[in-house]
Amino acid sequence: MKEVVERVKNMERSGIRAILNIANSMDVDILHLEIGQPHYPTPQHIVNAAVEATKEGYIRYTMNEGRIETRKIVADKINNDYSGFDVNENNILLSIGAVYGLAVAILSLVEPHHKVLLPDPSWPNYKLQTIMANADPLYYPLQEKNNFRPDVKDLEKIVTKDTDMLVINNPGNPTGAVFTKKDIEELIEFAKKHDLYILSDEVYEKVIYEGKHIPIASFDKDGRVITVSSLSKTYSMTGWRIGYVVADEKLCQQFVKLSETFISCPPYISQKALEAAFLGPQDFTHEMVSYYRRNIDVGVKILSDAGISFVKPNGALYFFINISKTGMDSNAFALELLNEKHVSVGPGNTFGPSSNKFVRLSFSTEFELFKKGIERFAEFLVEKEKLRR
Ligand code: PMP
Repeated sequence: MKEVVERVKNMERSGIRAILNIANSMDVDILHLEIGQPHYPTPQHIVNAAVEATKEGYIRYTMNEGRIETRKIVADKINNDYSGFDVNENNILLSIGAVYGLAVAILSLVEPHHKVLLPDPSWPNYKLQTIMANADPLYYPLQEKNNFRPDVKDLEKIVTKDTDMLVINNPGNPTGAVFTKKDIEELIEFAKKHDLYILSDEVYEKVIYEGKHIPIASFDKDGRVITVSSLSKTYSMTGWRIGYVVADEKLCQQFVKLSETFISCPPYISQKALEAAFLGPQDFTHEMVSYYRRNIDVGVKILSDAGISFVKPNGALYFFINISKTGMDSNAFALELLNEKHVSVGPGNTFGPSSNKFVRLSFSTEFELFKKGIERFAEFLVEKEKLRR
């Protein structure tokens, strides 16, 4: 029998999944700080709208790019929420979560054997999608000393003639970084200079604790920015699998061919749920953000009291903490922490080649659970640092 193709055979599984599987197989209560999704149920009015839509027979295929009505609602919301946009339904492709939208952009805009600039650290799927497009990742650092924000000087050092795309993630997973206007202007200039597409993953756009989310597309003058977002985090809808791509109309006309090929369309019911989410009250997201801000505050206090240095997250759902003083790599650290303290965290090495001295702690969980988890984490980190001295 012939083999599975190399690209798939060699594909790495996420380190987060691996630790989760181990944690789930253990016979004790584990404090889960590895998974990054809001712990809230989806707001009731969205669930009700989807149930009603199902009863009313919204259960068939839609246009490949998603319903016109739904895409209009997305376009209106973007135009309303942010300055610098004037988009309409032809600029929108509805997607299965953000993850499919990201894949569509990479598969459509990156030539085989060309390069894609990816943040290190970053969500591992960018790398996996790049490899599926038969292209190569080119990692640029998000340095702790720069609060995990990009520095174009680092990008200039590594960009090549056959680089097709720059991927950014703002607010960032796993870093919690929120980019400044200056960061964004510099990235746009850099992309223009090297004729790169910018694929901007903005799934955490509304999950901001400090600063302001500035969508890079609002500075785009020539249609090189493709923005991808979803309802997963904003409305706690990870399982509904609904998101969208915002791009130049000509690009959308190409992207839709992939939707026809791979998914036909995003689920009709989830499109109806999106409509309810965007047209309904927005207080859910504000409440969720206030709740997680409290988790951040308690985390900041516990880490600071223990003498641990870290970058305070301004957005998203994570602390990304340097463990280099323990001398341990992130996998060994996460495994020992799990075995000794029953706290499950994400090993940094899953997020990029230079992230092995970090671990990710998700605070998108219940306050007391998070507090207990980060207390045990801080205790463990300090113990391990002392052992090394
Ligand atoms: N981008 C980032 C940075 C993420 O963290 C995630 C989910 N963890 C996604 C995209 C995928 O989100 P979705 O559920 O919308 O596919």
